[in-house]
Amino acid sequence: MAKSDWPDWEVYVRDRCVCVYCGFDGRQLQAWYQLDIDHLVPRSANGLDTPDNKVVSCISCNKAKGQVDPRRHISEEMQFPLSDSARATLIAAAKSYLGSKIGHGDPADFELMMEEIRERQRAEQKNPADAKRRHG
Ligand SMILES: [Zn+2]
Repeated sequence: MAKSDWPDWEVYVRDRCVCVYCGFDGRQLQAWYQLDIDHLVPRSANGLDTPDNKVVSCISCNKAKGQVDPRRHISEEMQFPLSDSARATLIAAAKSYLGSKIGHGDPADFELMMEEIRERQRAEQKNPADAKRRHG
């Protein structure tokens, strides 16, 4: 495949194939598939579809950030196209938003959920016919 056929080649190279929010390393092909391109200023807030407004993000961070406009969390006016330092400011704002959002999840609840999944798996192994019926 030619280089020009890879969408957002320039953005991936600039951000080193690492999620700008959580540092997820996508420099292996299998991990790279977990990466996405995030619009710092979302399209829904008139963010442009240009490399200066795009960053490498893992799928989870992209999903968690959703349609949030990081400009809401900073006082400075942003000029477009975004400079490297303006982009860094927006990334930091989005990161602190993501941190507070993710921080609300209780790790104990996560463990509880995993325990419930393991229990169900054990039940299905004990009763495969039942599991088959349930999965249709
Ligand atoms: Zn991430």
